[in-house]
Amino acid sequence: MDLGIAGKWALVCGASKGLGLGCARALVREGVNVAIVARGAEALQAAEAALRAEAAWAGSGQKVVAVAADIATDAGRAAAFAAPGGPGRDFDIVVTNAGGPPPGDFRSWERDAWLRAIDANMLTPIELIRATVDGMAARGFGRIVNITSSAVKAPIDILGLSNGARSGLTGFVAGVARSGLAARGVTLNNLLPGRFDTDRLTGTLEATAKKAGRSVQDIRAAQQRQIPAGRFGTPDEFGAICAFLCSAHAAYITGQNLLADGGAYPGTF
Ligand code: NAP
Repeated sequence: MDLGIAGKWALVCGASKGLGLGCARALVREGVNVAIVARGAEALQAAEAALRAEAAWAGSGQKVVAVAADIATDAGRAAAFAAPGGPGRDFDIVVTNAGGPPPGDFRSWERDAWLRAIDANMLTPIELIRATVDGMAARGFGRIVNITSSAVKAPIDILGLSNGARSGLTGFVAGVARSGLAARGVTLNNLLPGRFDTDRLTGTLEATAKKAGRSVQDIRAAQQRQIPAGRFGTPDEFGAICAFLCSAHAAYITGQNLLADGGAYPGTF
């Protein structure tokens, strides 16, 4: 299926690895120009090279721009919008994403821990939306996809910082998506990953294994058994869903929370 977005410009945050990179790869395969952002320069350069190779293979001449910046800061967002070779603020697609907050016990989280989580996982996407949606609406096309978490739908006790900050974003997006933007071609949706095989998941598995005194392989297999699909998802599967939400065909989907978890969530809705 032609997604009808070749030649658009996408800003993909947290895109040197994992789910963000999966989204950037899927968009590049659709002929979309991408600006990718992450803090660590080494992984970012490797991602940029890999995406350029995809673009060359796709042969549609799309651009790949990399910005080494912390997207959770004003300066980082300004750098993303000032990227040489990029479109300034005139992105057609914005995929918001940053690392998730650390797990822990809520009794040990002081105000600073909450502010860091809210900054990265709520206020940063809101700032990116604020900076781009009016331009998108003026041009008649826009797609915002926020990478959140299945924890918004089924909270995980040790991820209280994530449950709280991402739920705040979810409520905000639900309102803005219905504020007149859809009629001007702009949709906003949240994409909720369950368990996907990325560095972050590997880190969580290692911590769980250490705490339980079991091997990482054991924990990995036990967790996969709990998922109806019998496995973790892949960044490419996640990217394909993101690309569809960004497509011309998804203009009638807005204000939604789309769960991709291999069937792990046990509810009907
Ligand atoms: P990952 O493999 O650790 O990749 C995270 C990416 O984001 C990296 O490129 C990282 O690069 C970048 N990043 C992190 N903080 C950033 C910042 N402040 N500014 C710019 N870039 C930043 O993680 P992932 O598994 O893809 O997860 C992506 C998001 O989905 C996270 O919020 C995570 O909590 C959420 N999630 C993931 C899963 C899962 O199973 N994987 C499940 C539920 C929710 P640098 O560190 O170099 O900046």
